[in-house]
Amino acid sequence: MAKDKKNEKKMPKYIFVTGGVLSGVGKGITAASIGAILKAKGYKVSIQKCDPYLNVDAGLLNPVEHGECFVTHDGRETDLDLGHYERFLDFETSKYSSVLSGALYQELINKERNGGFHGKTVQMVPHFTDLVQEKIAKASEGSDIHIVEIGGTVGDYEGLSFIEAIRLFANRVGRENCLYVHVVYVPWINTSKELKTKPAQNALKDLRGFGIIPDVVVCRTERPAPRAICEKIAAFSGIDKDAVLNLPDIESVYDVPFNVLKSGVLEILNKFVGDDKEPDMSKWKEFSRLRGKKWAKTVRVALVAKYVGNDDAYICVTEALKAAAAWEKVNIEIDWLNAEEMSDYEKADMDMLDTYDGIVVPGGFGDRGVEGKIRAAKYALEYNKPYLGLCLGMQVACIAAARMGGIENANSEEFGANEKDGNNVIYIMEGQVGKESTGGTMRLGDYPAKLKKGSKAAQAYGEEEVVERHRHRYEVNQKFLPEIEGQGGLGLVVSGTSPDGKLVEFVESPRCKFFVATQAHPEFKSRPLNVHPLFREFVKSLK
Ligand code: GLN
Repeated sequence: MAKDKKNEKKMPKYIFVTGGVLSGVGKGITAASIGAILKAKGYKVSIQKCDPYLNVDAGLLNPVEHGECFVTHDGRETDLDLGHYERFLDFETSKYSSVLSGALYQELINKERNGGFHGKTVQMVPHFTDLVQEKIAKASEGSDIHIVEIGGTVGDYEGLSFIEAIRLFANRVGRENCLYVHVVYVPWINTSKELKTKPAQNALKDLRGFGIIPDVVVCRTERPAPRAICEKIAAFSGIDKDAVLNLPDIESVYDVPFNVLKSGVLEILNKFVGDDKEPDMSKWKEFSRLRGKKWAKTVRVALVAKYVGNDDAYICVTEALKAAAAWEKVNIEIDWLNAEEMSDYEKADMDMLDTYDGIVVPGGFGDRGVEGKIRAAKYALEYNKPYLGLCLGMQVACIAAARMGGIENANSEEFGANEKDGNNVIYIMEGQVGKESTGGTMRLGDYPAKLKKGSKAAQAYGEEEVVERHRHRYEVNQKFLPEIEGQGGLGLVVSGTSPDGKLVEFVESPRCKFFVATQAHPEFKSRPLNVHPLFREFVKSLK
């Protein structure tokens, strides 16, 4: 790796990934795949996303529009790209891995208000661009290679200062320590049956206009493009033809690293890092083989949730289930059941649940569809149907158990339940009152839990002290534990708490084959090559 001349410290090398023509053509997956390949070559790789939104974090973004809100171990609410990064690189992103304009402006303005600029004019260049560079340097600490993805497309009005910042970054660390990768879309025009290179040429012209000549151009196409297409783009854009690569669509995102390898990028990466060691992709290959296979057994999972219609709203959950199924050698079908349509505990709904091998109730907020989720949990408890409850999924399970245990109107304070009725089995956590609609104030990120010896949770984890990520405001009111536990073993027992015992972290049914629910979000820590034990055990119980 590069050396810092002054103190001979190891310095990371940087890969900047930008996009042209349109967004949403797989820039993030390309960046993560490059990272996975470098990791497979033995490097310590980190990755970061810079997004020009004016939001401070992703916590208040609507998951129907933006997909899942991901949470880093240190409690930053980010967009789902960081989840892809963690899955591809099997590493933990941090609050430094997500850089949003809003947070940068907030930091600059706070500094200005506190007199931190000593009377100077505060400007986009150099103050904003310097801050972007500082964040990049910070996020890269301790890595051999640091990848930075810039959200949106080059030329977007709000993203210009990020492009300027990454251009300037080469002055800071040396151009030879930076690799610029530009991902462009090359459309297929059906009427004339040809691929059109003009938008890509224009996108490259835009990037050059900002002073960056890319080292790699990735042409995204729906089908494999003839080599002549890449060569044409190279010729018109003044880029070496071997640096213009084609990445056609592929069925599974987890096969993108293989596609990237096939594209010829390895030679460029080898030159950049200065070694030609073959990446060890054996675990990826094994995963790809297992995933691509048609197994004799198919398991069916009902995902009972509010956010139907956007598959990305629970992407970590579905990815964890699919990966667990591949390693457990079963096919998996995951159906979304709209919790709002299941509110009446109609027999038909329950008959439908019966057709599934297991139920997952994922996280969620607000009262929409909540009765349906409670009923799904009750059904699982009554009929010994494997159940995995994630955050809200644990809260509704406790409400269901308490209703079965005699508190007929058991509910959560979040759903407008009336405390006077003494029915708030789930209530707001200390210190959360009044913060219900403010960003970044939930109990966020890693917290430890102590598991009960011999519990299903402890057995699944293979240990009794675990750390999971969290994102919640409400908790189980332990005053109702007798009702939640119920009579005759029909209810739920607490199988994990915070180390001080104050907070319920895990509940389970000792009677059911698999009924484990947690206040945490284990899905954030599941990786395709290293599936989370709760997901693995849940899927195993469906076989
Ligand atoms: N709405 C619940 C709470 O805030 C659950 C949160 C979640 O599922 N992430 O406690």
